[in-house]
Amino acid sequence: RTNSRRQLVAGNWKMNGDKALVEQMQKQLAAASLENMDVVICPPFPYFGQFDSKLKLGSQNISEFDSGAHTGEVSVAMLKEFNCQYVIIGHSERRADNHESNELVALKVAQVLKANLTPILCVGEPESVREDGTLFDYIATQLDAVLLKVGISQFAEIVLAYEPIWAIGTGKTASPAQAQEVHAFIRGHLAKQDDKIAANIVILYGGSVKGNNAQELFSQADVDGGLIGGASLNPEDFLSICQAA
Ligand code: PGA
Repeated sequence: RTNSRRQLVAGNWKMNGDKALVEQMQKQLAAASLENMDVVICPPFPYFGQFDSKLKLGSQNISEFDSGAHTGEVSVAMLKEFNCQYVIIGHSERRADNHESNELVALKVAQVLKANLTPILCVGEPESVREDGTLFDYIATQLDAVLLKVGISQFAEIVLAYEPIWAIGTGKTASPAQAQEVHAFIRGHLAKQDDKIAANIVILYGGSVKGNNAQELFSQADVDGGLIGGASLNPEDFLSICQAA
């Protein structure tokens, strides 16, 4: 690699997994030597307390509020008590299922930053947008909502994930060239405001990453690792993806 960015692989369990998987995953990862990279597991909330402190943990969502009368919500302060360092914000499933707008995503990013945790901010287009040729405008709009709220300097504390919606859980991966093209666009978009922050920001690819395609994706110049859904539920598959970084 010709840059100094540290590669990161994050496993997003979504609403999957159980106590047994927590044990299996810890065992598998403890036995591996994964140096000079970051590995993060993002389990459902009930499992946070089950992990020992050796693994880096991330949350799949967070409340935009500090505390109080918000039934069913979880705060950043609570997560910090459970060794959580990262928070996925703006995953396309939350944007769709929970109607999270670009503005709400920006509020949540600000909330995570305020707590000194690292947001993993997800952007990505539906297939129709790619087909009608407005891909870059779509991604720029998603980024701009957050830029407007927190400012470019805060992007030094953010990890980005490019996740084309048509590739999530579909087995249809973006080609390495397609991923690289959008990652380079994202970096260029940020560079218009700050060269250095753009050069240093970690940009993950997500969408049907598997053991057999991870290496080629991660070797692209602007791809700094992955956000892994389905394959993060199998300890051996997840480990092989981490080893590809
Ligand atoms: P997938 O999910 O790896 O199952 O496609 C990726 C994601 O949603 O983060």
